[in-house]
Amino acid sequence: MKIDIDRERLTSELEELGAISQAQPPVVTRVVFTEADLRGREYVKQLCREAGLSVREDAAGNTFARWAGENPELEPVATGSHIDAIPNAGRFDGTVGVLGGLEAIRSLAGAGYKPRRSLELVMFTSEEPTRFGIGCLGSRLLGGLLDPETAGGRLDRDGVSLDNARWAAGFEGPLASVPLPPGYYSAFVEMHIEQGPILERHNVPLGVVTAIAAPASFEVAIEGEGGHAGAVLMADRHDAFLAAAEIALAVEKSARSSGSNDTVGTVGVCEVFPGAVNSVPSRVRMEIDVRDTDEARRDSVLQKIKLACEEVADRRGVKTSLRLVNADPPVHCHPHVVDTLVQACKTHGLPFERMISRAYHDSLFMSRIAPTAMLFIPCRGGVSHRPDEYASPEAVAQGTLVLAETLAQLAS
Ligand SMILES: [Zn+2]
Repeated sequence: MKIDIDRERLTSELEELGAISQAQPPVVTRVVFTEADLRGREYVKQLCREAGLSVREDAAGNTFARWAGENPELEPVATGSHIDAIPNAGRFDGTVGVLGGLEAIRSLAGAGYKPRRSLELVMFTSEEPTRFGIGCLGSRLLGGLLDPETAGGRLDRDGVSLDNARWAAGFEGPLASVPLPPGYYSAFVEMHIEQGPILERHNVPLGVVTAIAAPASFEVAIEGEGGHAGAVLMADRHDAFLAAAEIALAVEKSARSSGSNDTVGTVGVCEVFPGAVNSVPSRVRMEIDVRDTDEARRDSVLQKIKLACEEVADRRGVKTSLRLVNADPPVHCHPHVVDTLVQACKTHGLPFERMISRAYHDSLFMSRIAPTAMLFIPCRGGVSHRPDEYASPEAVAQGTLVLAETLAQLAS
């Protein structure tokens, strides 16, 4: 079978989708259920219909475009990603997995290939947490990792609930109808830009992802004793910020001493109260993110941070409380899907590197209902979530070729 990727068509479709934005192009902003998001969805759905795929949407707005296989009763093979974009983003994050997935399907049809299993392109709702404060809304619901009963009540910054937003966008029906049973798909493959510098640095065109790291995030509240910055003697202080500083250093130390480069810890938020130059800080609120590909290792880092909080609190005479906001389990990609990707790279003579995904993706949640793996393509300078995010037409086309070959093998 000779698979021809139409590089020009794919490049221009990525450009057209990129121009559908709440901001002035080349800046891409496409927040879930805004007018731009809906126009972007409409654009992709129209391309799917033109390709002869049958389009279905669920109550969360997840969109499925199916190419029926010769044995339509078999579990289908799926690919896909997201098209929503954070404010001030670029045009490749997510979209290469959606439009590239569509091009992969079109190229297989063009090559005269007939899938035994149905092939399905999935466009997930709200991979980005921008509006409702939680990432991978659509795939979380699909994978059964978000309670449909409470999800609809989540509010955006303007107090609009997810239910009201999706209803206004035309996605009706109960969210409880969204989850798919484990085994619904026989395999899921997501193509995505790497969003990191490794492939470019190693001059390798493709990354086969073997594991996806997952974040645990928690909030630490510290309560000390405020006072006049001049009047309170140093020995008498219970400065909440100094306690926070020690805890922040403990986060770094715990992550660095885990024994693996895959462990990372970040204190991204630190609010100091009252925040006046002449006042000893009485309260601090910190948000901490710890990620790893290994859940036990990640949890042992959390444990160390917790102990550090207690030790610092005792020694400095402050109170600390720790609240776990969210802890998704990391996943190891499915060996069969990984092997199929590896074989597809070899078939087409394209060098590849096995790597982990340090960011999380819809694949993390799809792995609950399907054997899952990911394919990375390089992006310039590893830059992502910025208007200058860039993947070359060649890189996108090579990824799409390997994706097409992989889907063909999985669906045969
Ligand atoms: Zn993405």
